[in-house]
Amino acid sequence: MDPPASIPPSRAEPFPATGVPAGPAPDRRRLPDWRSVLAVVAHPDDESFGLGAVLAAFVAAGAEVSVLCFTRGEASTLHGVSGDLTEVRAKELRAAADALGVISVELLDHPDGRLSEVPLADLTAQVSAAARTGATGLLVFDPSGVTGHPDHRRATEAALGAAGTLGLRVLGWTVPADVAATVNAEHATSFVGHPPSAIDLTVTVDRARQHEAVRCHPSQAVPASPLWRRLELLGDNEHLRWLPDGQGKAH
Ligand SMILES: [Zn+2]
Repeated sequence: MDPPASIPPSRAEPFPATGVPAGPAPDRRRLPDWRSVLAVVAHPDDESFGLGAVLAAFVAAGAEVSVLCFTRGEASTLHGVSGDLTEVRAKELRAAADALGVISVELLDHPDGRLSEVPLADLTAQVSAAARTGATGLLVFDPSGVTGHPDHRRATEAALGAAGTLGLRVLGWTVPADVAATVNAEHATSFVGHPPSAIDLTVTVDRARQHEAVRCHPSQAVPASPLWRRLELLGDNEHLRWLPDGQGKAH
């Protein structure tokens, strides 16, 4: 009987699996070599307006990307098209996911705007169930929520809890502090950015698929949205941070 085929060593990761990320400078310009990525977000459009370019980059690199979205976004004050937002935004999410090359979407129906009222253990369990299908790593909004929305913070909190249980690494999407300050000054928004010293990865992205995905959300991608100015200021760069998991460990 032939010996079992040896398992090839995993391809080089930019950072060791334990300890503080400290890869050489070039590794700070590329995404980790994840085979399967689970994006955990609060609202339909977060996967596109926020994470779209990064998710498209993972897809382009050959990763299988899935999205878990906690709410249907029914509480949005934006209403660019007629109809019940609960239904409109669910359809928009599925179209946007297709545009990004996402292979599966799980849309839950927790209350939009009140995610913090849902027991954290319930949310964490739902992330864990989704991640157990084979996720190599999680992609989330930065714990600040980026736009300041409390639902964004709660979604990330749940993802970090699941990551701690499953031993998964988590990348948090953020924006540079100067971009946040400019958008806030021009649009009276509450973006929370990070200085360069707090940003671990800055990757060059192609925004074509993101723009296509954004167009799949006509109820939210209204002309006055600060989204457009943010994308303009970011240019072809996106910024990420390695997040400590719910156990306080930086993977
Ligand atoms: Zn959102």
